[in-house]
Amino acid sequence: MPQQKMNVTTKILIWMICGLIVGSLINAFASEVAFIQNYLVNGLFHVVGATFISALKMLVVPLVTFSLICGVCGIGDVNTLGRVGIKAFLLFMLTTALAITLAITVAVVVGPGEGFDMQLAGQAEFTAPAAPPLTQVLIDLVPTNPIAAYASGNMLQIIFFTILFAICVLMIGEKGRSIAQGAEKLNDVMMEVVNVVMHVAPIGVFALMAKTFSLQGLGLILPMISYFGVVAVVLVLHMTGTLMILLKLLGRVSPLIFLKKMRTAQIFAFSTSSSNATIPVTLRSVEKRLGVDKSTTSFIVPFGATINMDGTAIMQGVATVFIANVYGIDLGISGYLTVIGMAVLASIGTAGVPGVGLIMLAMVFNQVGLPVEGIALIMGVDRLLDMMRTAVNVTGDAAITTIVARAENKISMETFTDPAAGQMEEVHLPHEAPLPEK
Ligand code: ASP
Repeated sequence: MPQQKMNVTTKILIWMICGLIVGSLINAFASEVAFIQNYLVNGLFHVVGATFISALKMLVVPLVTFSLICGVCGIGDVNTLGRVGIKAFLLFMLTTALAITLAITVAVVVGPGEGFDMQLAGQAEFTAPAAPPLTQVLIDLVPTNPIAAYASGNMLQIIFFTILFAICVLMIGEKGRSIAQGAEKLNDVMMEVVNVVMHVAPIGVFALMAKTFSLQGLGLILPMISYFGVVAVVLVLHMTGTLMILLKLLGRVSPLIFLKKMRTAQIFAFSTSSSNATIPVTLRSVEKRLGVDKSTTSFIVPFGATINMDGTAIMQGVATVFIANVYGIDLGISGYLTVIGMAVLASIGTAGVPGVGLIMLAMVFNQVGLPVEGIALIMGVDRLLDMMRTAVNVTGDAAITTIVARAENKISMETFTDPAAGQMEEVHLPHEAPLPEK
């Protein structure tokens, strides 16, 4: 009998949809049943989901470190590195600016929040979180103690220190070679750990989805439908429109193949709401599935996951227009331009973890004089939007990596166009393998 193998992405997708259905059913019919809430939602789903997220996060700091050292050393010389880094940085900023401009334009045309009934939203009050001032974001780029930065997982500081360290490995020439080789081997080991974690991912994704949807009923969206709808539409427009046009024009590659191969990373981003936690999967997809050279991937993907937040900027753009409408405040062109500038800068300081986009929104609101308490109105639907925007954030990181790789001639088009490249198939452990036919 021929052995039917299902690839891991399909399996994860199926489990994700099952989780969504199970969660929504629990929310609709069993939200009051103590047994289900205590043992299933806050018990099993919570433990399995949280363990899975921990497993992903566990990979991030070592993987980013080794992969950045490999990336920088692989690129080989400081001039090329500077060129690649600047290209990536400018493209990250450009896509974020395009994203928020599109968001504000669509939101101004559609006008979400006009005639909004405050009672319907029924939100708790919002105490403004302490959003870091922009100057502090810049100062904090440089770690006073790299070990503390590693221990607390401060990605911007880790990236800053690791890139500097790797550049110096390059600068000491021959003596640094063994360090670069060592980092390469350690990176291979970490990629293998990623593969192992990917095999338990379907269960983890199921648990995350089931828990989120059993707590967050879809009904919550109704009073906020105009806001939610505009954010969702612009997210889709940006992901399938702006980014794909750039990919086609600047990268000269097929957007369809790109999107198909990015599915796994998008699912991970969606179910974890964290670009950081998704880094291992994004790295894998961009290198193995899209065929981008290892050094380019290793350098740009972690950089993007930390500073590039197109989806988050879209939410912030629509939220600004929405809150301005609800409170009857006219921001005017200059107000919107300020929002665009702020959101682009804020994206650098937004950590790729769940919910931070909302905190950085407080910073944007402060700058243009919108009431920060207004954020309370959109908090209820933010969990779901966070999932969606994180998928867009990650897609943006991969798109820019691909574009830069193409410009630098660092992508294997053979791998890119091969549908099976880098696809993971289920591993059948020896004792599970079908017995040979007699
Ligand atoms: N969750 C987002 C991310 O990790 C950040 C945010 O918008 O809150 O990319």
